[in-house]
Amino acid sequence: MTRAKLIAGNWKMNGSLAANEALVQALRAGLQEAGGAGDCAVALAVPAPYLAQLQSLVAGSDIRLGAQDVSRHEGGAYTGEVSAAMLRDFGVRYVLVGHSERRQYHGESDDDVAAKAQRALAAGITPVVCVGETLAEREAGQTEDVVRRQLAAVIRANGPCISEIVVAYEPVWAIGTGRTATPEQARQVHGVLRAQLAAATAQAQRVPILYGGSMNAANAAQLLAQPDIDGGLVGGASLKAADFLQIIAAAR
Ligand code: PGA
Repeated sequence: MTRAKLIAGNWKMNGSLAANEALVQALRAGLQEAGGAGDCAVALAVPAPYLAQLQSLVAGSDIRLGAQDVSRHEGGAYTGEVSAAMLRDFGVRYVLVGHSERRQYHGESDDDVAAKAQRALAAGITPVVCVGETLAEREAGQTEDVVRRQLAAVIRANGPCISEIVVAYEPVWAIGTGRTATPEQARQVHGVLRAQLAAATAQAQRVPILYGGSMNAANAAQLLAQPDIDGGLVGGASLKAADFLQIIAAAR
């Protein structure tokens, strides 16, 4: 089965009203010049305060709106949190859950990530479930155990809805470091994740599995040529229009 590719930019805590406008305008112009994004879906996961701005900036384009996090709670007395229903109000189609920076700096557990994915799905938003091992875990030979444990929590909590998620394999040691997993390393973990999904749902072939971690204009084509790599979650390179457009072109 051929799955459509998805290239999602993760802006992290970057941007300003002026910079966002310039970046999206450059992306829109570049996509138009290229005749659109073709079969490749394009999304931008932006900081929550800019969702309203981005909703209007991407209107009428091929760019879909994404958020970087969602509360595990439905609503109420959770100061600082943003609910799935709020994201939906702004036309959000995707939300990252369990990004390693959330797990590492904000103590998010596998259980939190599973609950967040559940909230997103219930609101009709596709959760992009991020999994990945640290360097110490890789060196200790624990890569497969770690990613399987992280995905298992989400599968347990979401039952048959699991076919509606997107998975992003992001080795922590590759994020923002300029060090990318080799296509072979990525393919191996993607195979593990695909097999785990297949054991959980007959619809496993529908689930896109993205690679993330220092994907850039120079290495995207090689990674995206791997049959089980269905797209990319792109941090640093998504902040530069020319680089992000080249990655989209490599996915088409
Ligand atoms: P990077 O970030 O592309 O800057 O490594 C990827 C991510 O954190 O999603």
